[in-house]
Amino acid sequence: MDSNYLEIKKWCNERKVNLVAISKTHPVESITLLYKEGQRMFGENKVQEIMMKECQLPPDVQWHLVGHLQSNKVKFIAPFISLIHSVDSLKLLQEINKQALKNSRIQNVLLQVFIADENTKFGLSKEECFSLFENKETAKLKNIRIEGLMGMATNSDDEKKVRKEFKGLKKMFDTIAKKYASDNIEIKTLSMGMSSDYKIAVEEGSNMVRLGSVIFGERKAPITSL
Ligand SMILES: *Cc1c(COP(=O)(O)O)cnc(C)c1O
Repeated sequence: MDSNYLEIKKWCNERKVNLVAISKTHPVESITLLYKEGQRMFGENKVQEIMMKECQLPPDVQWHLVGHLQSNKVKFIAPFISLIHSVDSLKLLQEINKQALKNSRIQNVLLQVFIADENTKFGLSKEECFSLFENKETAKLKNIRIEGLMGMATNSDDEKKVRKEFKGLKKMFDTIAKKYASDNIEIKTLSMGMSSDYKIAVEEGSNMVRLGSVIFGERKAPITSL
C-alpha cells in the first residue's frame, strides 16, 4: 500500500467526503491491505474483474461500479453491487430495476453526466439527464434509488477548465436535488474527482471522490485482458 492512503483518507474525512478506492488492475492483496486500514468502498470499472474480486473479499466491502455498464451484464453484479456510478440510459436503468427486483434489493445508482470536451467519455448530456428525471417511466422503477450524479472532467492541466466543468455539474446537482425529490429519487451524492483533479472537485462541491493511482500507484495492464 502506498503511504498516501492514510493522508488522503484523513483529508477526505475532514471534509466529509466519501473516498472510493479504485482498485482496477490491482490484485486482491492490495485491496486487503487497505481493507485492514478500514477502507470499505472499493470501485472497479469492469464487471468480470469486480465479480472475481468480490468473492475473495469480506462481505462488508461496498463495491462500486464506475465503468461503462452493458445491460446484459447487470445480472452478474445485481446481487451485491452497492452503487453504480455509470448509468447513462433509461434502458439500462430499467434493466437494473428488473435485476434488483429479482434480488429483492433497492439498487442505488448515480447518473453519469458528460461534462468533458472529449468524445471518449460516456455519459448523458445535461439535456438527456434532465429528461430522464422528467420521464414518467423513471418514476415507475421502484427497485431503483437515484442518489446523485457522476461526472469526469477533461483530462487536462488547465485548472480553470476543469474547475468550470465541475462547477457546472454541481449547479446541475443542486437544481436536480431541489426539483426532483420523490419515492425513488433522493439526490445526495455528487461523485466527481480522480487522482489528478480531486482537490479541485471537492472545492467545487464533490462529496465522493474516486481515487486509483494516487492510492495504489500506477496501474498495470487490465487483469481482464489476460
Ligand atoms: C480509473 C477510474 C478512476 C480512477 O482514476 P485515477 O486517475 O487512477 O485516480 C476514477 N473514475 C473512473 C470512472 C475510472 O475509470
